[in-house]
Amino acid sequence: MHLATLPASYFDGTSARAHAVTLQLQGDALHIQGVGIDRSIALREVQWPERTRHGLRIAHFAGGGSVRGDDAAAWDAWRRDGGHTDSLVVRLQQSWRGVLASALALLAVVVVLQQWGIPWAARAVVAATPMRVDRSLGETSLAAIDQHLMHPSELPAAEQNRIRQALTQALRTLPSAATPHWQLVFRRSRIGPNAFALPGGTLVLTDELVELVGHDTQVITAVLAHEMGHVRHRHGVRMLVQATVLGGLGAVFLGDFNTLLASVPVLLGQASYSREAEREADAEAVRILRAASISPAVMVTLFDKLAEKAQRATQGKDSASQAGAWLGIAFASHPTDADRVRFFKEAAYPSR
Ligand SMILES: [Zn+2]
Repeated sequence: MHLATLPASYFDGTSARAHAVTLQLQGDALHIQGVGIDRSIALREVQWPERTRHGLRIAHFAGGGSVRGDDAAAWDAWRRDGGHTDSLVVRLQQSWRGVLASALALLAVVVVLQQWGIPWAARAVVAATPMRVDRSLGETSLAAIDQHLMHPSELPAAEQNRIRQALTQALRTLPSAATPHWQLVFRRSRIGPNAFALPGGTLVLTDELVELVGHDTQVITAVLAHEMGHVRHRHGVRMLVQATVLGGLGAVFLGDFNTLLASVPVLLGQASYSREAEREADAEAVRILRAASISPAVMVTLFDKLAEKAQRATQGKDSASQAGAWLGIAFASHPTDADRVRFFKEAAYPSR
């Protein structure tokens, strides 16, 4: 068996003098050989360096001393040849940039292999993505949305609390394992009555929507229950993964997470959830409403009000709603289709 050697500098731990040596991994030991030097150090005594992209590699020994490699790439290759790869988990944990990059890389491969399996693949990738990625994406998006589309809410704190309390109460009826982390924030919007969920579980509700439904807490709870469906199924991140790869952007963004992060608000703005995602969120809404003894019929009332509002907008009397049409993930930004209305009617008044 060929055992790779690596030229390195050895420091004995007492003097600053560098000794030219070669390193060799054999069994459970690291062998260091040079002029007048022949040491064997058990691997458990070796503190291997973090793998950074550039720079030196220095390994320290528990009993004193160290070795230094000046060629990071050669060092890493030598370590790999010695069978000392970092475990997959360790590598994934190195950074969430890495996590997302590997998720996207995985997805890119899957897309090539299985062109028609993209929604399925996105689901798998999302399942493997840590929740902190969702939260970071959500925070970035909210900052951008606040900057361009929102003002602070003017809803009295007491009413905000009442709405938050109603949702808490409705969710309490479900098994706690089925309820993801969430928070509700209020905004006065420049885009008319709307509500949306951001990756990571932040629900945004606009004052205008509260006003549109006449401050009816049951209707508001229904909207938020639908948004909770998007949170529970992580539709935001799933959509981003799909949009990124389907748009052919995957390769560009691989390894450049900041670019991706910067474009997230744009992606969230342009793309909208798939019909399937909307169906999943609607099903979740019905589940939550039923558990909280609220009739799913309240959703039908809401759809009617939004339709009226949209009609006024197309007559040019309501520019705010028109401006809002671009925020694709928001509740009121896509036209209600007859199937969804039928779904809630059916849930409210099951035919026998
Ligand atoms: Zn939705």
